[in-house]
Amino acid sequence: MLAEQKIETLIEFLRDTVAEYHPLALASSFSIEDMVLTDVILSHVPQIEIFTLDTGRLPGETYDLMQHVRERYGNVVRVYTPATASLENFVNEHGPNAFYHSVELRKRCCQIRKLEPLARALAGKAGWITGLRREQSVTRQGIEAREWDELHGIYKFNPLLDWSEQDVWAYIRRFEVPYNKLHDQGYPSIGCAPCTRAVSVGEDIRAGRWWWENPESKECGLHAARLVNKD
Ligand code: SF4
Repeated sequence: MLAEQKIETLIEFLRDTVAEYHPLALASSFSIEDMVLTDVILSHVPQIEIFTLDTGRLPGETYDLMQHVRERYGNVVRVYTPATASLENFVNEHGPNAFYHSVELRKRCCQIRKLEPLARALAGKAGWITGLRREQSVTRQGIEAREWDELHGIYKFNPLLDWSEQDVWAYIRRFEVPYNKLHDQGYPSIGCAPCTRAVSVGEDIRAGRWWWENPESKECGLHAARLVNKD
């Protein structure tokens, strides 16, 4: 059973944060962590906005979940899509699956499909929230609850940083929060369909993301920008 204290601490953190940083928004990828945050926000701190980045290459199961969330909670998640002209140029120049050819092309695809829409979504915000957890990967072990996001010039908050995967699932089960059905098929971390595969027992949580690359390069850029404490 998930400790009551952990949920209370999360609610308190979100309330305090939105009181100081407004407007504040959760960037949701419909991961299990983002579903916990979505449920907590809509139940206790609805003044926090929620948005998602629809890259156009998400798995069908993620779109099913997006629809499910709409049916359960209402039209509460604002969707941002890639800019048409940039995407057209990129696909025409490099092909639909350019991301497999080099890390550089993979990052350009992420730039067009995720980073530019993210910058638009964050324009005018005082801060943003993510569902990052420290135990997720080697690139996430140094994250803090509040970090200065140099790239976007606002604070970034990671309120689940100390939650374990077990804590997250305990919340999902207890409150019957909808989740991506790919998790039942061996996908612990889900992104775009062509860049995500299932993992085997014992493999790292993010081993199925960009599996053809080294662990050190496996961030899409959403969380790879230099983040520093700024007190
Ligand atoms: S995860 Fe893959 S398909 Fe999605 S934006 Fe990045 S490179 Fe493109």
